[in-house]
Amino acid sequence: MTVTLTPPARRAADAPITMFGPDFPFAYDEWLAHPAGLGTLPASRHGSEVAIVGAGMAGLTAAYELMKLGLKPVVYEASRMGGRLRSQPFEGGSGAIAELGGMRFPLSSTGFYHYVRTLGLQSRPFPNPLTPAANCTVIDLEGQTHWARTLDDLPPLFREVAQAWADALEEGAGFTELQTAMRQRDVERVKALWNARVLRWDDRTFYDFVAQSSAFQRLSFHHREVFGQVGFGTGGWDSDFPNSMLEILRVVLTGCDENQHLIVGGVQQVPLGLWHHAPQRLVHWPQGTTLARLHHGAPRPAVKAIQRAGNGQLEITDAWGHTRCYDAVLVTCQSWLLTTQIACEESLFSQKLWMALDRTRYMQSSKTFVMVDRPFWNDLRANGWPVMGMTLTDRLTLPRLAAESRVAIAYANACGAEGDTHYGGLSRLVGADGRVVASARRGEALLIADSPD
Ligand SMILES: Cc1cc2nc3c(=O)[nH]c(=O)nc-3n(C[C@H](O)[C@H](O)[C@H](O)COP(=O)(O)OP(=O)(O)OC[C@H]3O[C@@H](n4cnc5c(N)ncnc54)[C@H](O)[C@@H]3O)c2cc1C
Repeated sequence: MTVTLTPPARRAADAPITMFGPDFPFAYDEWLAHPAGLGTLPASRHGSEVAIVGAGMAGLTAAYELMKLGLKPVVYEASRMGGRLRSQPFEGGSGAIAELGGMRFPLSSTGFYHYVRTLGLQSRPFPNPLTPAANCTVIDLEGQTHWARTLDDLPPLFREVAQAWADALEEGAGFTELQTAMRQRDVERVKALWNARVLRWDDRTFYDFVAQSSAFQRLSFHHREVFGQVGFGTGGWDSDFPNSMLEILRVVLTGCDENQHLIVGGVQQVPLGLWHHAPQRLVHWPQGTTLARLHHGAPRPAVKAIQRAGNGQLEITDAWGHTRCYDAVLVTCQSWLLTTQIACEESLFSQKLWMALDRTRYMQSSKTFVMVDRPFWNDLRANGWPVMGMTLTDRLTLPRLAAESRVAIAYANACGAEGDTHYGGLSRLVGADGRVVASARRGEALLIADSPD
């Protein structure tokens, strides 16, 4: 395939933050928007089949772009299209949606929003803590509850924690300098700064970073605890304390955990939209071609085995027992499944890669949704604050769910090995009658009104 790459255009020091770096400082958004498309293939390859395992966002994006280039993607899907972007409407709920997987997407994900725009979908701010969209944020720690619209409404402890985190990022990671180079799309500068941070922080934990910073050392241990529980952005990051600090730096540098939007009507419309969308610019295929048409409406079933065929191609056997050979196979399901669910020929990967696949760990999470007839949590109490709000708590339970309304969510994340019940995320919603609807182990719990009107 021929791709002509030009260096990314330099931007202003205060240009919006995007996913440009720091590991891969590549202007994906410019590439996607380029009038000449993503590249060209020799005409002799047009119509060649490429297998794509998984019809989530990754698989369908790849299939859509490969189809535009003139290839014939053959998509396999074991379950429902959309994968971990799954929007479940409430029966009789006139538009109320439960986002079972991803639900908030940072505006810095300019590649993702390229497809949102292509499909004509709308987004709006997600009610994250202390944002105007949340209306009211409730912080409930060690039995003490605070109600806030902005950081200034909270006791000084919370401002001290926020300031210490900002200071620690400057002191330990030269945050502004690196983020400015990313905003400017200055590849050489980004790599020079990032490579130095990799050497310094690759084998040190997030907690190490916090505890060793002079900003937090000046404060009490309790400040660290509160930081872990309330954190930054969407809050509740202490389950990441044992992880490499580089992981956290990647998140904060790219603005992944702030300025997030939801997709109006459900995010599953994005992958499903790509399945049904007829691109304006197509090579080889007639105008009006879609992935759905190329597949006669449905993807192929689950992949059961991948092996090298006698002719050097890759051979896929699916759940119906059909076998088919391809020059290329793109696997987009959770990579760990190659070690557990798909009989994958050992010689296809190096020993090191097998070990990496085997060591992959996933974060578990659970969500509980309750549809109610109106966003009652915005009702004002006698003291002028709403009855409930976006809640960050160290409790197992939310205090109460007082009335009926549209959609309320309790959400908890926890790190750990798949199947490791000790770390399993658990969320809990409690009805007005005290009945537990479901529960949250720790970390994050939130309530949102997802009313389309
Ligand atoms: C509860 C939850 C909340 C999340 N919240 C957010 C969020 O707010 N913001 C955000 O950006 N991200 C969020 N994420 C992450 C986001 O949803 C995922 O990163 C993203 O959807 C992954 O897309 P993917 O295409 O890479 O993988 P997937 O969506 O997992 O797609 C892989 C597909 O492969 C299929 N498959 C598996 N095995 C086989 C097989 N043998 N043969 C064929 N197909 C197979 C699966 O059924 C699946 O459809 C969340 C995830 C979860 C679970």
